[in-house]
Amino acid sequence: MAKRLKKARDSSPAQLIYGEPKRTIPDRMTKQDRQGDFIKFLGTAGARFVMIKQLRASGGLWISCKGTNVLVDPGPGSIVRCAASRPKLDPSKLNAIILTHRHLDHSGDINVMIEAMTEGGFKKKGIVFCPADAIYEDSVILKHVTNFPEKIEILEANKSYQADNFEFSTSLRHMHSAETYGIKFKINKTGVALLPDTRYFKDLVDFYKTDILIISVVFFQPRPDVEHLSLTDVELLLKDIKPKKAILTHFGMTMLKAKPHIQALELSQKLGIEVQAAYDGMTLEF
Ligand SMILES: [Zn+2]
Ligand SMILES: [Zn+2]
Repeated sequence: MAKRLKKARDSSPAQLIYGEPKRTIPDRMTKQDRQGDFIKFLGTAGARFVMIKQLRASGGLWISCKGTNVLVDPGPGSIVRCAASRPKLDPSKLNAIILTHRHLDHSGDINVMIEAMTEGGFKKKGIVFCPADAIYEDSVILKHVTNFPEKIEILEANKSYQADNFEFSTSLRHMHSAETYGIKFKINKTGVALLPDTRYFKDLVDFYKTDILIISVVFFQPRPDVEHLSLTDVELLLKDIKPKKAILTHFGMTMLKAKPHIQALELSQKLGIEVQAAYDGMTLEF
C-alpha cells in the first residue's frame, strides 16, 4: 500500500511541488449549475518552462456567456483539459476562438480546437479572432483548417467585436514580442478584462479599469530585459486600475516557486482589494 501510494505521488511531482493545495472536490459544479454564465481556467501556465513541463496546464480560458461559448488562448493541452473537465466542456459547442497573440503557450492547440469547433471541418461554423501576425506571418493556423470556421477576423487595437451573444473590445497594442491585445467584455452585467503578456507601461491602466481583472504575472521579480509582467509591475497596475477583484494567472517558474496563493493574499492585504491566484480548473460563476 505504502509503495503504491509513493508511486502515485511520484507520478505527479510537479503538482505536489508547484500546484495550489489540492482541493478535495476539484470541481464543485454540477450539470445544473453550468446553465449559467461562467469562466473556467483550463490552464494557468505562463511562458515557456511552466508550459513545457506542464507544471500548470496551458489550455486557456473557456467563457460561457448567454449561451455563447468562447475559448481564449488554447495553448497546448486545451482539448485534453476540455475533455477532462467535470462537467465536460464540448468544443463542438464553441462559437468562437480568440487568440490574444501567436505565442505557443496561447496557440498550441488552435488547429485542433478549430477542427473540434467545426466538427472535424464538416460544419462550417464559428469565428476565429487573431492578430494579423498570427495568420499572415508564419501562420499558427494551418492552411487546411482556415476554411473550416465561418470566418477569421483580424484583431486590431481599440476595436469592438462580436460572436453571437458575446461582445468584446480589444485593448491598445501590448508591448510584447508578438502582436498582442487584451480583451474586455461584460458577462451578466459584470465587467471582466483579460490582460495578457506585456511589458509594463502606464498606458495600460485606462483600458483595464473594470470589475474583474484577470492579469498575467509571469515573473516574481522584475526582469526589464523580458517583455512580461512581474508581481511588482502587477502591484503598480492594480494600484492605478483598482478593480473590484484581481485574478492572477499565467504563472512562470519564479511565481510558482513564490506560491501564487500566498502572493495574492499579501497583495490583497497591501492594496485593500480582493486578489486571488487562479488554479487549473478554477471556475468563476456569474
Ligand atoms: Zn504567454
Ligand atoms: Zn507571449
